[in-house]
Amino acid sequence: MRSSITAIYPGSFDPITLGHLDIIERGCQLFGRVIVAVVTNPNKTPLFSVDQRVQQIKASTAHLANVHVDRFNGLTVEYAQSHDAKVLLRGLRVLSDFELELQMAHTNKTLSATTETVFLAASNEYSFLSSSVVKEIARFGGSVNHLVPASVAQEIYQCYSHDRAASTPTKHPGNL
Ligand code: ADP
Repeated sequence: MRSSITAIYPGSFDPITLGHLDIIERGCQLFGRVIVAVVTNPNKTPLFSVDQRVQQIKASTAHLANVHVDRFNGLTVEYAQSHDAKVLLRGLRVLSDFELELQMAHTNKTLSATTETVFLAASNEYSFLSSSVVKEIARFGGSVNHLVPASVAQEIYQCYSHDRAASTPTKHPGNL
């Protein structure tokens, strides 16, 4: 049975992958409401705007009744408190995630003692998957259909096909 607790799932989601979606779907089984919150992180230059990412997540989670998609900047715990959310939901893939995630969880605990971070282990098939991996494959023309929701794959291809078209050198008439 689902609890009545609201959980925030914060992240960059640039773009949402099937690994993120797996965490959201499993979170929805555990919590009364899952708010997927897109962080506006000035330290990263994203491929997609916040608006695009919010739309992508909304389209990918339309089948889930207890998901809400939002954006925020500032402290995650303050955002959580303002939405009466007691849980921060995060996914853990490999050991390298663990150090940073644990550090963030401890830091957030010092900021808000009543907010708990709950980690879900990545499903086996997605334990290697990240938004960066998806972008790297697509940049070089590889298929990402098995890694992201179908509508997102189309948007990624569009981004990189524009890039490729723009970087195609114009033939100098003298070369003809
Ligand atoms: P951030 O910039 O906050 O790391 P991400 O969008 O990269 O944002 O990730 C958001 C959360 O989703 C993080 O907790 C991350 O560990 C988790 N996550 C990312 N990819 C996967 C995946 N393939 N399986 C499970 N969890 C994942």
